[in-house]
Amino acid sequence: MSDQDPVIEIRGLHKAYGALEVIKGVDITAHKGDVVSLIGSSGSGKSTILRCANLLEDSQQGDILFKGEPVKWKGTGLHRQPADPKQVLRIRTNLSMVFQQFNLWAHMTILQNVMEAPVTVLGRDRDEVEQAARRYLDKVGIGDKCDAYPAQLSGGQQQRAAIARALCMEPEALLFDEPTSALDPELEQEVIKVIRDLAAEGRTMLIVTHDMKMASDISSHVVFLHQGLIEEQGPPAQLFGAPESERLKQFLSATV
Ligand code: ADP
Ligand code: MG
Repeated sequence: MSDQDPVIEIRGLHKAYGALEVIKGVDITAHKGDVVSLIGSSGSGKSTILRCANLLEDSQQGDILFKGEPVKWKGTGLHRQPADPKQVLRIRTNLSMVFQQFNLWAHMTILQNVMEAPVTVLGRDRDEVEQAARRYLDKVGIGDKCDAYPAQLSGGQQQRAAIARALCMEPEALLFDEPTSALDPELEQEVIKVIRDLAAEGRTMLIVTHDMKMASDISSHVVFLHQGLIEEQGPPAQLFGAPESERLKQFLSATV
């Protein structure tokens, strides 16, 4: 393990739901500071790849490495599972996920939502976590909403709270699964701005998005998925400016 190792490396990933193979051999690498965007039609496997990367889903074949450390497995094929719960916890807390539907706890205030996992899962000092949580809520522009409950916030504010919650884990990388697609267009922009700021800070991120403008502006690398395989990938200028695959051309013309 060294600083040269990618933060996330996925090699030859295969994933099936029962008999349905949905990821059919995918490689994705994100070095420190990389912003890798995953694009593709609905059902192409984007969310599944993110969920496999942080071990929310099991996968049947392939390697997943976190900073050069390979996930240890037990069993094979449909019986394969991570072997070491401590390793799973370490990887999952270091690859912090932001979901389409925010997934905030409705019965907790915004501040409590942001503090919950660092205190209870990581066992960090409550006062220090509270300071950090307030700082991250300020950073995403909702420092005045600490004592509000999620239902009292707009969708854009709730998603920014979810981003603050992910940041408060002090993760090595952030994983975003369509973070703006549950939002009205005018609220999308306030979340996109936060994500842009994080990219400018040099955060390592894997982003599933339907927002081609954001993907084009902030990505270091773009991956176009089609039916569980990488159809085309490259720097954004190439993928958006000079796509080669007919499927990608079609996808892009349908999404603008
Ligand atoms: P995307 O995020 O690109 O829309 P997904 O990763 O959600 O695609 O889904 C990829 C494929 O896996 C789709 O065919 C979808 O129907 C299937 N799938 C996703 N989740 C499940 C599940 N829990 N059980 C069965 N099939 C699933
Ligand atoms: Mg999805």
